Amino acid sequence: MLNQNILKIDKVNAFSSAQRYVREYREKHPERDVISLGIGDVSRPIVKPVIEAMHKAVDDLADMSSFHGYGGYYGLPELRKTILENDYPNMGFTIDEVYVSDGTKSDCTNILELFDFNSKILLADPTYPIYRNRAYALSREVYYTPLDENYQMVVPEEHYDVIYICSPSNPVGNAMTYDVLQKWVDYAVKENAYIVYDNVYFSFISSPDVPKSIYEIEGSKQCAIEMRSFSKKASFTGLRCSYFILPKEIDTVLFRERTINRFNGASYVAQVGAIATYLPESRLLIEENIRMYKENIAYLKDSFEALGFKVTGGTDSPYIWVKNKEDIPSFEYFKKTLNDIDVIIVPGAIFGSAGEGHFRVSGLGTIENSRIAMERFRKYYEENH
Ligand code: PLP
Repeated sequence: MLNQNILKIDKVNAFSSAQRYVREYREKHPERDVISLGIGDVSRPIVKPVIEAMHKAVDDLADMSSFHGYGGYYGLPELRKTILENDYPNMGFTIDEVYVSDGTKSDCTNILELFDFNSKILLADPTYPIYRNRAYALSREVYYTPLDENYQMVVPEEHYDVIYICSPSNPVGNAMTYDVLQKWVDYAVKENAYIVYDNVYFSFISSPDVPKSIYEIEGSKQCAIEMRSFSKKASFTGLRCSYFILPKEIDTVLFRERTINRFNGASYVAQVGAIATYLPESRLLIEENIRMYKENIAYLKDSFEALGFKVTGGTDSPYIWVKNKEDIPSFEYFKKTLNDIDVIIVPGAIFGSAGEGHFRVSGLGTIENSRIAMERFRKYYEENH
């Protein structure tokens, strides 16, 4: 018998159904210049010092004296040490608390193996849909908390065991400030709950009142598992390398044992590349890439606002969350923009029922495409309103 819980996944309001619609549209209209403002993938290449380090790592694999097999269950010690020294200086973590892996998409729900099967899982509505869909596939129960008027997750009155916080947020594009995050950590400590803190967009944070890491918040080591990835920071979406911190206050024994049985380590070449992202010469180039994405999303934000849309996010993330001006379902609006102006946006319903009436726009593409797309939006609204 097949896993019936997979059937709970909404296949209508799904990313895959939007992708299918776009694919069919492109097949039907090969002559049209379709521009995507929806992409969650990066467009800028990996920086040169990282490429060079990986070339060398490939050569290592060709020689008996420098060959490397498995990349280590928890990652190469050098990478784990580099992560701690650079991303968590003076925070008191040891390398036993760092787990290197092959992507936060899998890490963020594989971590559910640490928690009791009957744990009540709390997600934001709207949410990064992977938390919801993977929890269903793993036969876990999920519950939702809405966003308040500032698009921040509302701290519940009731008890939950595992809370997913995505900050900076996909899809809403904002980030939790010190004050808001402290409320969540206090809640988790009081309720003996755990926070899975998806922090993959940490490199986009620039607001001074937004912590780069949840471990800047008092009490967090007791309850929070922070997940980061090299995907968006350093264009590793195709290479695959991520890491998370599982503080010893939560667990070291169980999850280490589980990992040995479950995972044979991230790719050696990707991990060598990840180490090289911390070189001073890489940092400058990576910062420049992030600056360009941020400039792009700022342009998109200003342009939608100039057209009279209400827009959230974009300051600490590569995404903006746009309130639809037209009172139609978000999937209908997505089809309309594709058919009328050949621009792809992501319908809000994909992220949950509270995402209706909104759409997500990404700054991870190129500024040139953003300019063309916004010119099309501008003309469309001039002609039709
Ligand atoms: N978490 C969030 C919130 C994301 O938006 C994404 C990718 O878009 C991921 C995780 C996936 O990260 P990775 O490429 O490391 O699997």
